[in-house]
Formats: sequence, structure tokens, C-alpha cells
Amino acid sequence: MSARRPSMVDSRGRHTPDATGALAPGSESPAGSRFPSPIAARRMALMQEPVLVLNATYEPINVTAVRRAMVLMLKGVAQAEELHNAEVHSAAHSHRVPSVIRLLAYRHIPQQSRALSRKNILLRDRNTCQFCLRIFPSSELTLDHVVPRSRGGRSSWENLVACCYRCNNSKGDRTPEEAGIKLARKPRPFTLHTSRQLMRLIGHRDERWRKYLFY
Ligand SMILES: [Zn+2]
Repeated sequence: MSARRPSMVDSRGRHTPDATGALAPGSESPAGSRFPSPIAARRMALMQEPVLVLNATYEPINVTAVRRAMVLMLKGVAQAEELHNAEVHSAAHSHRVPSVIRLLAYRHIPQQSRALSRKNILLRDRNTCQFCLRIFPSSELTLDHVVPRSRGGRSSWENLVACCYRCNNSKGDRTPEEAGIKLARKPRPFTLHTSRQLMRLIGHRDERWRKYLFY
């Protein structure tokens, strides 16, 4: 164990010996520093944790990251329904990190026509490169046209997959067969069923999600 201060304390206020609640001055990276301090890195990781988003009717509609969920709460668009024990600290305040939030105004979500977007493709493919099956952060994934656009491949749910840069480079402007690599599974459109299954998978470590997802 290192003697560095953690960025989190639990709900009972248990701190490690020298944690002082708010981040001490100098504990964040100095401005212009290339690498985040361990505290800033942990805080960044915490801010990326998944949060279940419910409609005003308590219907699960999406998964977002803690950072975005907290913005929605600060704007008064959503409120926390379930909280983690972890807290994030700013200079003057500390906030419990949400696990489940609910929109205060009902939003109509056409379930059958989920937007074809990079975010949704990565969600469907669970941030897993569909060629080497390794899991990557979103920033290290690109979208691959299984049948290249130069061969008439379309930008559709059935022809776009999550792909790491390495596989994308080695595949180049070829079909998987030509490149001698295998696609993990046939890409499918995002359905309500896929969406629920994914929410369960993403939230499997967080039992606060269970009652909203019925499992
Ligand atoms: Zn790959």
C-alpha cells in the first residue's frame, strides 16, 4: 500500500489516516502536468463509473457515466435514486456518487429506433474489439466497416463494429476473410432486449440497479 491519500471516503466518513475530506492543495496535478496524480487518476476512474438512468416513470432508459449523471443532477434535470458510498470532493463540497438517477420530466424514447451512433455501437459491442475480443476504453476504439465502404459497405448496425486501432490497421481496406481475421459475432441492431441485457451486464456488480431491471 502506498501512503497516498485516496480521493474517496465511505458514507460513514471513514478516512485513511491523513485524508482530510477535501482534496488538499497540491494533491491534484499541477497545471500543465502531463500525468495525473494518483488521486486525480482515481477520481477520473470514479467519474467514468456507470450510472443507470431511469425515465420519470422509473423505466430504465440508458446508462451514463458518473460525470454526466452529476451534471444532469446539478442542472436539475435528474435526481439521484440510489447512491454509492463513495464521495467526490471539490474545494468546498463533497457529493455522494450516484448509482441510479431518474429524469424529472418524462422523455419519450422510441425504443425500436435507437440512434446509430458510435456510443451505441460501442455499448452494443461492450467496448470489445470484435476481432481480437479485447476490451478497451472508448477512446481506444474506433468503428470498423466490416465490408469496407470502398466495396459498398454501408454505415448500418449490421456493418459497423467496435474495433481497436491495431485490428483496424491490420484489416485495412479489406473484408475480414481477405484479412484473415474472424469477426466475433454477427453484428445486430440494438433492440430493447439487447438494451436491457446490456444494462444488466453493465450493472451486474451494483445490486442497487437490480430492482429497476428486474433480475
Ligand atoms: Zn482488436
